[in-house]
Amino acid sequence: MVTTQQFDSVLKNGRIVDPTNNIDGAFDLGIRHGKVAAVAENIALELADDIIDVTGQIVMPGHIDTHAHLSSPFNRSVDRAYGHAMLVESGTTTALDLAGDPTAMANGMLRRGAGLNVASLMGLVPHSTIKEDDPSPSVIRDVIADVKKRGGIGVKLLGGYHPFTPEVSADVVKEANDQLAWVAFHVGTKDSGSDMTGLREVPEITGAGRLHVAHINSYTRGMVDEPHEEVQEALRMIERMRSQWVTEAYLAQANGTNGLCDEAGNLVYNVAQNCLKARGYPTTDKGIRAALLDGYGSALVERGGRAVLVTGQEAVDVWEAASTDASLSFPVNPPTSAFTLATAKYDDGSFRVDAISTDGGSLPRNVAIERTMALVAFGALSMDEAVIKLSYTPSRMLGLLSKGHFTEGADADITVIDPATGRASMSLVAGELIMYMGRAIGKGGTWLVLEEGRGVAESSGLPFEVMELENSQLYEHWE
Ligand SMILES: [Zn+2]
Repeated sequence: MVTTQQFDSVLKNGRIVDPTNNIDGAFDLGIRHGKVAAVAENIALELADDIIDVTGQIVMPGHIDTHAHLSSPFNRSVDRAYGHAMLVESGTTTALDLAGDPTAMANGMLRRGAGLNVASLMGLVPHSTIKEDDPSPSVIRDVIADVKKRGGIGVKLLGGYHPFTPEVSADVVKEANDQLAWVAFHVGTKDSGSDMTGLREVPEITGAGRLHVAHINSYTRGMVDEPHEEVQEALRMIERMRSQWVTEAYLAQANGTNGLCDEAGNLVYNVAQNCLKARGYPTTDKGIRAALLDGYGSALVERGGRAVLVTGQEAVDVWEAASTDASLSFPVNPPTSAFTLATAKYDDGSFRVDAISTDGGSLPRNVAIERTMALVAFGALSMDEAVIKLSYTPSRMLGLLSKGHFTEGADADITVIDPATGRASMSLVAGELIMYMGRAIGKGGTWLVLEEGRGVAESSGLPFEVMELENSQLYEHWE
């Protein structure tokens, strides 16, 4: 008989789903020192310091969100750091902060962190985070090197908001690739838009390089052709670029955008213009006002430590109080596009779009898990496939090889889902509960940095881990 405690905690009687190890069934999961120590049919009660009863619940490797928003390079009326608790409450355990700023992200994690593992990109904004409109390769190189030193893992091109020329966009991809930094693209350049015209440029912009093409669903909203035609074209493009791109799509109907208008009253950003065009509103301040009053558009506000959407006059007031520079949302993502992008496969059974993301965090649309579970209920995905799209493949995309599965020694990052609701009921990071019954209970978080960011991470006071993008799918077989 074993008399010493072998496990710090044991998740008892769950349905463990771990496709990597071909496991789907009733097992106990034992955790020791933050790692998975055993998956076994029955772990004796006396071997555990702590028992967490998960009878009847689905226990999967934690959701890794490859597109979230937890910081901003700018001061925002709604603090992006609310996104930590919001993501945690939806069941996410690891996130890629897609267009913020690593310094702002780390500060937000210290203030409002909820236990997530977070890697951060910096959004490239001319005259703000990068000096020029047409930066030279050497300027781009220096900006990327600086981001890595400040604890970021790379940069994002914000083509729908701050487009560069196709040439500069290509230089950003190349310079990021040359220093093995992450590079993500919300498509669109000075020659195109945040739609299929933008996506069609991306193979040439990618060149021989590697690129994370962000939220594929955002370019298949029917702005150029019918949504189903755009989806098929996007899927063919993804196949052609299979060895060079990593991709994700989200499942919310609501998008996120910004209502900024210039002095003449015209909407500044292409994404916001498209939202109004989609319903026949003028792309002006009058159009925005009408869309908000009609309940088509919503504005982001803070309520009780979370960001929520409001509409009608309340939304107009928020937008005016921000001098039009307010975060807005419109229900512009067709469910048909979302469905096809989430489920489309190659002949070999692997998925065309690598991951299901939220594009949420501080935007209240953290529905990746519940909508993926709806697809499982619908029969469009198996439970194994849900885990592959929510956890395993995202772990490979980012090179987080000790996540995404329950092999002995893997990180004990776990999302527990109630099959009755399809929602996460509990989650753990490194064996510690960060969410229980839909409530964030974690604090702080773990900052995921590159080797160059070790110094700043050490002095931040935050726990941190060093990522190696050599291991990522983005840089697989990269010479
Ligand atoms: Zn986004």
